Amino acid sequence: MLDFVLNFLFPPVCGICGKLDTNWLCDKCRKRLKEYEKFELLQTKEEINKLFNFKNAETNIIEKFINNEQDMNIYFDEFLYCFEYKKLIRNLLLKYKFSDCAYLSNMFGNVILNNKKSNEIFEKYDIMIPVPMDKIKMLRRGYNQTELIIKYLEKKVNSKSDLDSKIDIIKNVENKNYNTIIINNNILIKNRNTKTQSTLNADERIKNIENAFEVKDIEKIKNKRIILFDDIATTGSTVNEISKILKAAGASKILVLVIAKD
Ligand SMILES: [Zn+2]
Repeated sequence: MLDFVLNFLFPPVCGICGKLDTNWLCDKCRKRLKEYEKFELLQTKEEINKLFNFKNAETNIIEKFINNEQDMNIYFDEFLYCFEYKKLIRNLLLKYKFSDCAYLSNMFGNVILNNKKSNEIFEKYDIMIPVPMDKIKMLRRGYNQTELIIKYLEKKVNSKSDLDSKIDIIKNVENKNYNTIIINNNILIKNRNTKTQSTLNADERIKNIENAFEVKDIEKIKNKRIILFDDIATTGSTVNEISKILKAAGASKILVLVIAKD
C-alpha cells in the first residue's frame, strides 16, 4: 500500500532520461548503460592486486620498512565492480553524489539485481554494510548515497514474494535462493571526520582514513560473510582499511561491491 502511494506521488522514472519507467531505467538507456558494464568478479589476491596496483607486502617487506611505506596488505577476499568509471557512469555518480537525485539509487539497485553475477553473491554472504559517511557530510547532504542503494537491495532481496509478483524485476535470474541479507548501518561507524579522499594521493589516502572506522557490535561480525558496499573505488584504501578492522573483529570473508572502479 505504501509502495502504491509512493509510486503515485513519486512515479518511477528512468534514472538517465527521466521517462516514466517501472524499472527505473528505460530500454533505450539500458543499452547505453550496457557499454560501460563490467560486473567483473575478482576472487584472488593476485587479480585484486593487479587491479589496484597494491604493493605486495610479502615480497618487499624490507624495502617497505626502509622506505617507511604504508601497510598495503589486502584484507578483502573478493571484489566485484559493476561499471567502469567513465563518461555516462561518472556523470551519473557525480549527479547522484552532489545533487538531490536520490531516485538514482533505485536505478542502480535494479541494475545490480538484474545481473547474474551480483545475484550469485547474495547467496553466499550474510550481511551487507555500506561504507559509513562522516556525520558532517551526511547532515549536509541529507542522505548517504550508498545506504540508499543498499536499502533498495535489501527490500528486493529479502522479499521473495515481492520478486515473484513484480516480473519486471529480476527477469533474467532463475535462482532466487538468497540468504536473508541483513543490512546493518549501526555495526560500523566512522568515528572521526576525514578529508575528501579524491583530493589526496594514494599514500595520503591511506593515512587519512587510518583508524577512522570502528566496529560497534563485534558479535554481529564474528564468523560472518560480509559484503562491503561503496559507490566508487579508486585506490581501494577506504574499503581495505574497513576490511582490516572487520577481519580483526572476526569476519570470515569479505567481498567489496562497488558501482564503479575508477
Ligand atoms: Zn531512459
